Amino acid sequence: MPGSAAACTVRPDGVAPFARNLEAHGLALVRDAALTLQVNVGLLCNLACRHCHLEAGPARTEVMSPDTMRQVAEHARTHAYAAIDVTGGAPELVPGIAGFMARLAPLAKRTMFRTNLLALAREESRELLEVLVENQVALVASLPSLAASQAEAQRGKGVLDHSLAMLRRLNDLGYGAEGSGLDLDLVSNPTGAFLPPGQEAAERRFKADLARRHGIAFNRLYVFANVPLGRYRKWLEASGNYEGYVRRLADAFNPCTLAGLMCRTLVSVGWDGQVYDCDFNQAEGLPMGGVPRRIHELDGPPAAGARIAVGDHCYACTAGAGFT
Ligand code: SF4
Repeated sequence: MPGSAAACTVRPDGVAPFARNLEAHGLALVRDAALTLQVNVGLLCNLACRHCHLEAGPARTEVMSPDTMRQVAEHARTHAYAAIDVTGGAPELVPGIAGFMARLAPLAKRTMFRTNLLALAREESRELLEVLVENQVALVASLPSLAASQAEAQRGKGVLDHSLAMLRRLNDLGYGAEGSGLDLDLVSNPTGAFLPPGQEAAERRFKADLARRHGIAFNRLYVFANVPLGRYRKWLEASGNYEGYVRRLADAFNPCTLAGLMCRTLVSVGWDGQVYDCDFNQAEGLPMGGVPRRIHELDGPPAAGARIAVGDHCYACTAGAGFT
């Protein structure tokens, strides 16, 4: 079933379970103070991208209810987070999302809204867009590749042109302009079974290319490795790439990445209010600290030193210079 804890895929020979690998290095992955509340408002999406670890798509019906939105907002109000990060699926498609964003934005120093751009370009997203601008919500837009063939292989025909048109529209609204207070960040990920290039070099290339060829400006580029979960794992398996990809991630394990892993400072809430250490654990059905709970059952964010639930997918975060 899409989105549920996936059936166990055989770990390649010679790759140690992630938890055992940490032990072998004398390391423990535990929490720091929680800084970011990440809210996944649903698995419904207008696209069905090949790399999606949540297997979001147009046929998914899971969206956050008004009651759960209220509980999330109450939690955010009571336990001040430095940042709130709203994601999906395509959050734009969730009923009541404009009101939810208006409620959340005043509760944190920085509020982010993740978008695939196409969902935000719809006429139905006009009110939401006004709320985002008015509340200076930062946009984090996925743009896997600047090559049309690669972007389309991952997301479908015509997506690059539509994405670029929406980026231009956002620039016109002030997004990405110095001093506007409207941050526009991009996220890129590889289109195949390989690790991404270094973030700084990729950002320089994206900035130069988008400015020169399309007159588009943005603030930062984040480069992520695809996590072998959900639809991406199925694609790796079907294309015979799973073993090689996981081995590559494990071989690139870098103990120095542990200090910067997002799970150390993140509380991730699923569409049904369940809490996780990160979005990837959400896809794998691994609850926060290994204990299933909903947001309204938390007394507060997890304490520093608390356990983080890990799985073999964590190798995607600890490869090379780190990818979270
Ligand atoms: S997948 Fe990454 S962010 Fe999530 S628990 Fe593992 S190391 Fe942390």
